[in-house]
Amino acid sequence: MIYLVEHFYSIQGEGKYVGTPSLFLRFGGCNMRCEGFGCREKADDGVEVVGCDTVYAVNKEHFAHNWIGISQSVELVNILELYELPDGVDIVLTGGEPLIYANDEIFVAFLEELHKRGHRITFETNGSLGVDFEKHPIYKECVFALSVKLLNSGESYTKRIRGDVIFSLASQSAEAFFKFSIDADSINLALEEEIDEIRSHSPKTKVYCMPVGGSKKEVEKNTEPLIEFCKAKGYNFSDRLHIRIWDENKGV
Ligand code: SF4
Repeated sequence: MIYLVEHFYSIQGEGKYVGTPSLFLRFGGCNMRCEGFGCREKADDGVEVVGCDTVYAVNKEHFAHNWIGISQSVELVNILELYELPDGVDIVLTGGEPLIYANDEIFVAFLEELHKRGHRITFETNGSLGVDFEKHPIYKECVFALSVKLLNSGESYTKRIRGDVIFSLASQSAEAFFKFSIDADSINLALEEEIDEIRSHSPKTKVYCMPVGGSKKEVEKNTEPLIEFCKAKGYNFSDRLHIRIWDENKGV
C-alpha cells in the first residue's frame, strides 16, 4: 500500500527550480525521523510530535489516520485530472521519503505514465535509499533533489550518508543536485566537513543550502547567517519561498 498525505499545485519554493509551477504529491512515511530539526506538531490525539517540518508526513503512529491509501496507479493518475495543469508541468514527488516506494509496482507504473505525458519528474529525497535503474529505467528520466541529512538532523552518520547511493542517484539519473537544510546554530558544527564528504561521492553535483524552519520566523532567523556561509563556501543559497509567502500553512 502506498500512502499519500496531500497534493497541491503551487510553485517550487526551494532548490534549483524555485519558482517553477509544480504539482506536488506528498507521500507518507520515511526511513528517518530527524528530531534534531526540532519542529513540533500537535497530532489529533493531542500528542506533540517532534521532527522535521513535514513531521505530519513522517510519523505514521500519530498522523497516518489522515493519509490516503493508494492501491492502484490510476488513483494517482486521477489526481492530475483534478487540476487544470499546463502541458508538461513539473511533478514533484516529496514526503516523507518518496523513495520508500521505489520498488512498488503501482508507484513505478505511475512514474511511467507521468513520463509518457511529458512531465518532468523531480524527487525530493534524503538520498539514503537507492533505486534499481536497470530494473526500472524510468528512474533514469527523473531529477533527484538530494537533501542528504547533516549532523543537525540528529540521525546517525551511517544511516544518513550513503556514498554508494549518492553516487548511483547522481550518476544514473537525468539530473541531480544537493539541497541541504541548515540553521544558524549548526553552521559551526563541522557542517563544512560533512558537506565536503557528501560531495566527494559526486563532486560535480551543485550544492544549494536552504534555511531550516517550518515557519517564516524560523526561516528568517536562519537566512542571513546561511547566506554568509554560502558566500564563504561558494554554495548556492536557496530560499524557502513557500514558507516565506505562506508561513506555516500546508498544501500551498
Ligand atoms: S528525511 Fe526528510 S522527511 Fe524524513 S524525517 Fe528527515 S527531513 Fe523529514
